Amino acid sequence: AWADEIAQLAQIRKLDIQPFRRTMIQIEVAPSAPAELPLVVGLDGSFYFKPDAGGRLWLSPHDEIATPPCDAAPEELEVAIALDRFEQVVDWNVVRIERKWAGLRSFAPDRKPVIGRDSQNEQFFWLAGQGGFGIQTAPAVAQLAAALLLQRELPFEIVPALYSTDRFR
Ligand SMILES: Cc1cc2nc3c(=O)[nH]c(=O)nc-3n(C[C@H](O)[C@H](O)[C@H](O)COP(=O)(O)OP(=O)(O)OC[C@H]3O[C@@H](n4cnc5c(N)ncnc54)[C@H](O)[C@@H]3O)c2cc1C
Repeated sequence: AWADEIAQLAQIRKLDIQPFRRTMIQIEVAPSAPAELPLVVGLDGSFYFKPDAGGRLWLSPHDEIATPPCDAAPEELEVAIALDRFEQVVDWNVVRIERKWAGLRSFAPDRKPVIGRDSQNEQFFWLAGQGGFGIQTAPAVAQLAAALLLQRELPFEIVPALYSTDRFR
């Protein structure tokens, strides 16, 4: 989330990587949710939920609140919105909220990650803007970043230019 701030400390022009807060709550419902329940996403993109162990559900209001980089925490309003949207589409009873948390999803303006040396200063290497896919893409992104940093052969077929800073300069 701090990628632009770090770049500026190194006198590198920022790329306008924007962090957005997303909220998640874990709820107990009655009757409990079946383990085989698939990920359920509102067609209008206003919520999603999926089962967790013990019949619990993970629920998000699909929020995307622009925020400065920070140690993100869930806002009561987003938690209430999540429950309201959930209760409009299911007839489960919400017994209680067991956990709630929030994190930052940081995006470059075109929503693709930024991986590679800065086109104006080769001494600075970007690995940022993993957005909402930073966990799933981590193994491949790490291999690509390592190959670019160490100037080794690319580990798989990929066009690194798609992720370079050139696209913004
Ligand atoms: C609710 C939610 C759901 C998501 N779902 C998915 C998903 O299903 N699939 C997917 O692929 N991605 C998902 N993501 C996105 C994914 O979490 C991010 O892309 C990824 O975590 C980014 O990795 P990162 O290492 O850049 O940053 P982070 O994972 O945010 O790591 C930064 C770390 O730095 C630490 N830190 C911050 N400041 C300091 C400091 N001053 N000193 C020391 N440490 C510090 C923080 O505590 C944190 O541990 C989701 C994100 C959110 C918020």
